[in-house]
Amino acid sequence: MTAQPSQWIRNYVDGAFVDPVPTSAFDAVDPATGAVYGRVHEADEQIVDRAVSSARRALANGWADRSVADRVAILRRAADLIEERFDDFIAAELADTGKPVTQARALDVARAPMNFRAYADIVSATGQESYVTELADGRRALNYAIRKPLGVVAIIVPWNLPLLLLTWKVAPALACGNAVVVKPSEDTPGTASLLAEVLEQAGLPRGVYNVVHGFGADSAGQFLTEHPGIDGVTFTGSSATGTHVMKTVAPRVRPVSLELGGKNAAVVFDDVDVEEVVAGLSRSIFTNTGQVCLCTERVYIQRPVFDDVVAGLVENAAKLRLGAPMDEATTTGPLISDKHRQKVLGYLDLAVQEGAEVLCGGGIPDVGMDLNGGSWIEPTLWTGVDNTDRVMREEIFGPVAGLVPFDTEEEAIALANDTDYGLASAVWTKDLQRGHRVGAKMNVGLSWVNTWYLRDLRAPFGGVGLSGIGREGGQSSLHFYSEPTNLCIQL
Ligand code: NAD
Repeated sequence: MTAQPSQWIRNYVDGAFVDPVPTSAFDAVDPATGAVYGRVHEADEQIVDRAVSSARRALANGWADRSVADRVAILRRAADLIEERFDDFIAAELADTGKPVTQARALDVARAPMNFRAYADIVSATGQESYVTELADGRRALNYAIRKPLGVVAIIVPWNLPLLLLTWKVAPALACGNAVVVKPSEDTPGTASLLAEVLEQAGLPRGVYNVVHGFGADSAGQFLTEHPGIDGVTFTGSSATGTHVMKTVAPRVRPVSLELGGKNAAVVFDDVDVEEVVAGLSRSIFTNTGQVCLCTERVYIQRPVFDDVVAGLVENAAKLRLGAPMDEATTTGPLISDKHRQKVLGYLDLAVQEGAEVLCGGGIPDVGMDLNGGSWIEPTLWTGVDNTDRVMREEIFGPVAGLVPFDTEEEAIALANDTDYGLASAVWTKDLQRGHRVGAKMNVGLSWVNTWYLRDLRAPFGGVGLSGIGREGGQSSLHFYSEPTNLCIQL
């Protein structure tokens, strides 16, 4: 369908929006209704090349040498400006994702200024590594490592938390003095372009922040990762694309940070307060319609509380309110696209073939005339599945979970760790020692005890196995976005 766009979403290169070319464009679709709300200018190879060149020029023109205090002032101003334009960011995020406004306000968009302020604080408080060397022959030397920006960083992000994940990378990259070319997901282009307006107003020099829109293969994503002018790539997305990006960058031996998929487990022991745990699990399974990389898709429950926890989860699933994003009562939005819904529906069918008992959901809901064109899906829970089933091994990325009983602590640890992924886990128990013990045994980058998605932006974030390579967050981000040069001065 060819849209009559009410809005163009444009590339941003060298401090200016690029005039869109109608023949190189794709539709921006609102997943809550299925309606086209705008057109996105797809960046061709030339636009990507211009973006990388302008980033390189910005570094040479002095951005890389600006003082930390200067850069921090811009980050703080950007945070203030996002708050001033909060409603514009909410509108763009909702148009792209269809997520409930209450969630966008409290979680996703709210995290953008927090990301800028967090890295302003972290980079301001960070010193250099230094050692005084004393050799046996009496010579002494001072070693100190200065941190230089990586250079031009390609930032590629997915659609599930578009602004949150974008600013999670842009803020530390700029704090360290890099220039960036960002490639948002083709499904959620809006907020990255809006951020360009804010960063320009915050005083960021031209060329330091560039946006190229498009897809992966044979489009902006590929052109960017293949570009010889890129000094590093930070990528958040699926494990399959992550491995591809790694291979693309490998011949030029550039640093890559990969934040990838998950098949996250929760482990519930029988000493818990069932009501509290059911509330926590409902959040971890259904937040953002299950489209958070940290969401729980496997729940292992100790047998004495199995029936109660399962009953509580089913009851809570029935209370979820699917509806219009701007309705304050809506708790649950659509999936991101019809394409993604087809994938999730495939898993709902597969679960039945694999012998699952469907406790709730399992198909497409009726959300009313205005919304039925959107990519809605029913929150779905299964029993009767185990770790040999594909639905318990592959990331589905929807509001779904398999519920499995266990008897002993050792068994629970083995079940939770029986996965190719290793992003996050949540252990629920009133026994503090067990919480520490089992939490430490989880083979993941983020191990929660009696909570989920509680984040400190100074803490390391990332996964093991198929869930990624490297850590971002706090000092880990500063390490990724900079290169140390060690100076050794004989005293
Ligand atoms: P995806 O891998 O399909 O796409 C991610 C981004 O990569 C998009 O911008 C896409 O256009 C781009 N891309 C695709 N092919 C490319 C190529 N060949 N070269 C360069 N770029 C390419 O992922 P998605 O479906 O957008 O996002 C969902 C996935 O992201 C899930 O697996 C989820 O678990 C993961 N995720 C991980 C984290 C984390 O922090 N670990 C956070 C959020 C989402």
